[in-house]
Amino acid sequence: MLDDPTHSALRELLRSVRAQLEWQRDCGARWMPRVTASDDALPRATAPRTNRAGSGVVGGTASDAPEPARDAPPSGRTASSTPSPPARAARTEELFTEPGLRGAATLAALREHIGDCQRCKLAGGRTNLVFGVGNPSADLMFVGEGPGADEDLQGEPFVGRAGQLLTEIITKGMKLKRADVYIANVIKCRPPGNRNPEPDEIASCMPFLARQIDLVQPRVIVALGTFAAQTLLGVKTPITRMRGTWQDYRGVKVMPTFHPAYLLRNPNDKRLVWADIKLVMAELGLPV
Ligand code: URA
Repeated sequence: MLDDPTHSALRELLRSVRAQLEWQRDCGARWMPRVTASDDALPRATAPRTNRAGSGVVGGTASDAPEPARDAPPSGRTASSTPSPPARAARTEELFTEPGLRGAATLAALREHIGDCQRCKLAGGRTNLVFGVGNPSADLMFVGEGPGADEDLQGEPFVGRAGQLLTEIITKGMKLKRADVYIANVIKCRPPGNRNPEPDEIASCMPFLARQIDLVQPRVIVALGTFAAQTLLGVKTPITRMRGTWQDYRGVKVMPTFHPAYLLRNPNDKRLVWADIKLVMAELGLPV
């Protein structure tokens, strides 16, 4: 007979493998077996040890680590660092294959469900899982790529240099408070060396972003950078072509724009982001 910790670790592993197989099968891997067994009755993962985001209450100290070099336009990327989003946007039913995920009826319940996540290989390298922060019923949601060093330390998205720029866009540009909007990332744990997230990591984490979007029900999502836009929309279109044009994510309007980290390196393109943000403000009825 297996002792309890071993038993629950095995069940957790089985659960992740099932979710992973379902995702890959739904993305077109026809050799994948259909997972039919329900394990909703499985014991929950162990209690989270990470900060609870969503409340906006975080701890830790900002580091001086450099901002991740994210969202260079396509010409700036090497082939090996090109993000690999899913081939297409997943249908709603495909995103909630993980038992219990649909049942997470609030952001707090979703955070509880994610727990001390060990679903992908990023778990070992993180300090904090960075869930999301802001107004749980915001009209406007920002989606970035994934935590950098500062976010990993503090457990809150967009708190480093790029985050400060995003905060300025929200507060100085849009005349909103950071707490008025909801901010999340495609992946919740920092990739080592701020490399791009890998397909298995996205597959593990995307259902949580999908559920966050369903719970917040924003009117508009601003997709920050290549990776967020391509992943949300299930396309490989360069951000330079998508930015400034309205897109759709399961019925929610999406405005792709450049990532603030890109703007730190290319300040001349701030005017393009401002043009995109003005479209968002007009859509939300905010004074432009
Ligand atoms: N870049 C992102 O994409 N997300 C963060 O939270 C911080 C930097």
